Amino acid sequence: MTQASDIISALPSQFEAAQSSGDLFFFPSEVSKHEEIGIEWEIRLCTALQKKSIPAWEAGIAPSNQIDETSKKSDPFAPPYVPNLHVGDLRDESSGAEYGVLLNKYSVVPHHFLLVTKEFMPQTSPLMPHDLVQTYLLLLAARKARKNYFAFYNCGPNSGASQSHKHIQFIEVEDDGPPIERLAKAANLEVSGKPFSLSSVPYANHVYRLPTLSNGASPEQLEQVLFLPFLSLLDLVISTVRHVPDYPPGTPSYNVILTLEHMHLIPRRWETYTLGESGATLSINSLGFAGMLMVKSESERQVLEQEKIGAVLRGVGVESVHDLQVAGTSMEAMDETGT
Ligand code: AMP
Repeated sequence: MTQASDIISALPSQFEAAQSSGDLFFFPSEVSKHEEIGIEWEIRLCTALQKKSIPAWEAGIAPSNQIDETSKKSDPFAPPYVPNLHVGDLRDESSGAEYGVLLNKYSVVPHHFLLVTKEFMPQTSPLMPHDLVQTYLLLLAARKARKNYFAFYNCGPNSGASQSHKHIQFIEVEDDGPPIERLAKAANLEVSGKPFSLSSVPYANHVYRLPTLSNGASPEQLEQVLFLPFLSLLDLVISTVRHVPDYPPGTPSYNVILTLEHMHLIPRRWETYTLGESGATLSINSLGFAGMLMVKSESERQVLEQEKIGAVLRGVGVESVHDLQVAGTSMEAMDETGT
């Protein structure tokens, strides 16, 4: 078994080795900034993703409903792993749960890696206490190594996930978090220890500010601090989607963004957004809601800016019912029954 700190320190050299051996494909891209609703959004233009040779379903850049059944059957996250992509294994001592850590085979951002369950677990299942603990041990190890990573989880059929085997993803950022995190940090909370909502964005979102996590926090301490907040945010996601008239039955879809300071859960209604007259579809996952969008052409970038990022995210998310939720469960009950 590997330690979280060994995983973080192995990433740069392993990324280079995997790329030069041809086991990892790196697609260069250019990032431009776009100011809207007080957020400096990042739009990543990656023209290499237009190439037909890339299995779009595998790289997570095609809508999952366009993935054919044969492709869906193969599970890239089942062991044995490709040695050059396999950074190490982690084990959660209290639950015995085991994980593999893999480099993203189709990387647009260097050192993008995934924490995958050793045993098959569905991507529709919520994060378990041990998933959260191992994720935060990795984020803490990165901070200790003076690197800024955040994690995300695309949960459910309309969340933008392309693989059905449970995987939590990690991306390195220059600043101390993705663009949306700046808005969360700026929120002035009257009370701590309660979920809140970023009200300046036009889609439902549920956020929790975590207490300061020390680099040496134990797994037990992390579990105590992380799991109940996650459950309270998940309750809010479920309560929010119950207000959406045509919400599909079954497991709800939502995106999870995890930083050392905040947990964000964003309920999802649709996986893709169709851009105006061009008809181009954008598959949106947690990264879009983190403030990092990706397009495959300059014209797509222009249309995205014209249509407004807020409208695109509202299009694939759901309407906020935060005011009803703040008013309390009795108000919600009234709203449900119409009395
Ligand atoms: P998602 O599309 O959000 O479900 O994320 C799945 C990620 O796994 C995508 O970013 C893919 O590039 C990546 N991926 C697909 N196949 C492999 C593989 N064999 N090894 C490592 N990463 C992979």
